[in-house]
This record gives sequence, structure tokens and C-alpha cells, in this order.
Amino acid sequence: MKNVIEARGIYKSYTLGSTEVPILRGINLNVGAGEIVALMGPSGSGKSTLLGILGGLDLPTSGSILIDGIDITRLPESKLAEIRGTKIGFVFQAYNLVSTLTALENIALPSYFTNGKKKDPNELIEIVGLGHRKNNKPTEMSGGEQQRVAIARALINNPKILFGDEPTGNLDSKTEVKVLHLFQKLREDFGTTIFLVTHSDEVARIADRIIHIRDGKIREVSNHGSHL
Ligand code: ADP
Ligand code: MG
Repeated sequence: MKNVIEARGIYKSYTLGSTEVPILRGINLNVGAGEIVALMGPSGSGKSTLLGILGGLDLPTSGSILIDGIDITRLPESKLAEIRGTKIGFVFQAYNLVSTLTALENIALPSYFTNGKKKDPNELIEIVGLGHRKNNKPTEMSGGEQQRVAIARALINNPKILFGDEPTGNLDSKTEVKVLHLFQKLREDFGTTIFLVTHSDEVARIADRIIHIRDGKIREVSNHGSHL
């Protein structure tokens, strides 16, 4: 299986006053094409920091990240932005939709800022089960619907990898299961690689692999097939 994410010797520290605070302390990991990975660990263990670095939103203090074979830690910002825009999609706990735009307009929005292969927003909104909500604004939709719009938006530029930072953290358990089915469908239909930070056992259940992180280090990796 081809690796779409390779992290080599990732260290990250923040400087607080005159002290250097280590957050990530030597992370190595590979994620194969089409894998669903769950990253779990206590609050403050460095999950969001790692996700941001893997997705090119932030740089490590040392180490390298290969996305689809390209080392994104050694690129000029314009190149990095291009890779972020075309190979990577992000979903967060807060849906971060533009409140003045309709569901369909929100989904289409990132396509105006990048070149390359795009998906059809009308098709995506059907895939996430919201064909009847095209013209609704975010305030007219439930949390689960808004998150499904955010997921469709993250897919508009046809990314290889979808990163989620606690994407079901604000959803009730029934809605969570719907969103998880959607992630599984995306992997099946498009071969999307899905990397999710989560506290949820439900999310862990759909993962092929669960990576446990504590104090900035990987402590345990468990493999299992998905059972949802
Ligand atoms: P998690 O997502 O696992 O809860 P985070 O990656 O958000 O953890 O944070 C890990 C640690 O890094 C926390 O102690 C947090 O306070 C610290 N941290 C995160 N971002 C910054 C920053 N920009 N500046 C300083 N410290 C930060
Ligand atoms: Mg976090």
C-alpha cells in the first residue's frame, strides 16, 4: 500500500517566555492510501498540534512530513498553500461555515481559490445527503447537517486526505453515526484517506488503526478492521 502521509522524527516545541515547552517528542508514522486512522489521547497531549503539522497548517520544530511523497516542511509558502488546497481537506469540531452563504455556495467556495481537478458541488451535496438543503443557510440547518456541509466543502478540491479534528465532538450519538457512515462511504467511493482526532469510541470503531498519543509521543498503535 502506498503511503500518502509519512511523518519522520517530528518534534514541536513552543517558547513560553524564556522556556522551551516540548509538545511533540519524536513522532514517526505512515498512513496508507485509503486508510482510516483515529488519533486518540488525553486533552493537551498534542493531537491538534500533530494534525496541524501533518496537514501543513503548521511547521514542526524539526522532522519532515511527506504528503503523497512531497516533503511539505521544505516548501515555500505558495507551494505549501497549493498542496494544502488541492491534496488536503480539513474538518473541525466547529463547522466554520460562512453564515451568509447557502449550503451549496459554502461547498463550492474553496474551489474558487485553487486550480486543478474539482468535484461538482451539486454532486457532493447529494453524496452527503443534503440535496434538499442546497439553498438553506447554515442557521437553518442542524449541527449534523452543517457538519455534512463542512465535509462536502472539504472534498470540493478532490483531496487525497481528509483530516478531522474532533469532527463529531459537537454531535449527538445518532448524528455521529450518520457522519461516520459518510466517512466510510467517502473512503469506499473516492479512496479518500481519513485521519481523525477523536475522543469517541464510535469514531475509533470505524478506524483501521488507532494511534494513541500521550505527552507528545506515540504510546500504542492498535489495528483492527472497521465494524460499524
Ligand atoms: P490536544 O489537541 O491533544 O488537546 P494540543 O495539540 O491542542 O493538544 O496542545 C498540546 C499542548 O500544546 C497544550 O499544552 C497546549 O497548551 C500547547 N499549545 C498548543 N498550541 C500552542 C501555541 N500556539 N502556543 C503555545 N502553546 C501551545
Ligand atoms: Mg485538540
